[in-house]
Amino acid sequence: MAFSRISLGYLLFVFMTPSSQIRSLQESRGDSSMLTQLQEEADTRSQEALIRFARFPYRKTLDDFDFDFQPSIARSSLQTLLDEDYLYKKQNLILLGPPGVGKTHIAVAFGMAAAMSRNKVQFISCSEMIARLREAQERNTYLRRLASFARPSLLIIDEVGYSQLSSEDSALFFDVVCRRYETGSIVITSNKSYKDWGEIFGGDSVIATAILDRLLHHSKSFVLKGESYRMKERKEDVKL
Ligand code: ADP
Ligand code: MG
Repeated sequence: MAFSRISLGYLLFVFMTPSSQIRSLQESRGDSSMLTQLQEEADTRSQEALIRFARFPYRKTLDDFDFDFQPSIARSSLQTLLDEDYLYKKQNLILLGPPGVGKTHIAVAFGMAAAMSRNKVQFISCSEMIARLREAQERNTYLRRLASFARPSLLIIDEVGYSQLSSEDSALFFDVVCRRYETGSIVITSNKSYKDWGEIFGGDSVIATAILDRLLHHSKSFVLKGESYRMKERKEDVKL
């Protein structure tokens, strides 16, 4: 079949049919190369759409991460989480440490990997998530907005703790964590160690404990240390 004569129906078939069925059909019909090419194009398009939907601040992967510069985290520990399918197990990943050590980079890398495996991902800063929930409360659309944070297979909440939350805002954060508890993974980055989480949530240790209790139940935490990578880059710029 000439490429130019592929019908819309044929394209729709390729988009809608699971890869395994396409493969067995390819084998029976013997026209494997074109179907494979179409399948690959459809895969790339859907991955691209998922990456765009996620709204990452930048696109970086674990291959872009210099583990020699950041020895406080082992690539193998991160790879184990991916290999053991943390998303399927609804496990959380929590990355703690000072600015510039690579927390957001690793969070984005996990998000990219999830999107490449066709999972819906949403990346959002903690302050923006709270602002959207607050706005929804005012518009009487709170439950719908909350559901939108519950829906993606992976929710990445960046920069938890950069600014303190009031007890009302802490309750909104708690709602998100509760909605996702054991139903969908969360990746969190924070500059505050766990002992300071009471401060993040309006000095309310009861809500901080309730949030941590759910977040940590099925989770892996990493504490990143050391110098900011941004400073390293700046020093190299100065040297030039
Ligand atoms: P933070 O810990 O504050 O979230 P980021 O993850 O955003 O820091 O890192 C700041 C910048 O430095 C990003 O551009 C990120 O890609 C880069 N970066 C940080 N650590 C590393 C590293 N070990 N290898 C490569 N790039 C890094
Ligand atoms: Mg960051």
